[in-house]
Amino acid sequence: MQVKGHDVSGTIYVYSICSHHSSHFSAMKFLYLFTFLCWATSLEVATQCPGVELVSRAEWGAKPRKGERENITEPVDYVIIHHTAGQECSNFDRCALIVRGIQNYHMNDRGWDDIGYSFLIGGNGQVFIGRDWGTVGAHTYHYNSVAYGISFLGTFIDHLPTEKAMDAAKKLIQCGVDQGFIKADYGLYGHRDAGCTECPGKKFYESLSSWDKWHAKGTIPKYCAQ
Ligand SMILES: [Zn+2]
Repeated sequence: MQVKGHDVSGTIYVYSICSHHSSHFSAMKFLYLFTFLCWATSLEVATQCPGVELVSRAEWGAKPRKGERENITEPVDYVIIHHTAGQECSNFDRCALIVRGIQNYHMNDRGWDDIGYSFLIGGNGQVFIGRDWGTVGAHTYHYNSVAYGISFLGTFIDHLPTEKAMDAAKKLIQCGVDQGFIKADYGLYGHRDAGCTECPGKKFYESLSSWDKWHAKGTIPKYCAQ
């Protein structure tokens, strides 16, 4: 049973529940159900992560990306934590509105193909799928091809994200490791480790030192050109 695969066009499909060959589910109603599930899950990779409430791009109202998706080479060595340096939110409607605004900013003002972050996390612990697993992002100069970028909605200079948000990030990272998107011996960093930025906020950055795999790859080069 395969968890993921790439078709000729580069799109990633989730096969784990998509096999129609299982003799355990021969009844037509199961076949119909699985056919529907396969259709529903074929658009995105991050369909399931235990204990994580994932919000699909369709659910948050994403615009389609521009241009071709660029495959990331998996599993990656790094996970880089960001904040959005904007407003916080605590419910789906508000968080989805902010995420749509970030996508507009990244695509219209920065000229990128899509929202830059791999994932974004709201104060209510919901994880909004950005570029998703499997795709090169636009979040950390010089590291986009070797790292996933997880961004917390808010500005965390003098206070921390909610426990729900931080717990969701830890579970998301573990899910990425379990599903083969992130190396088991990955290193966790804040954006400021890799670039000349305040991101992900002083207070939050300092607290990250207690997280698993913090700086596990040692000091990483810092690139200040944007
Ligand atoms: Zn950042």
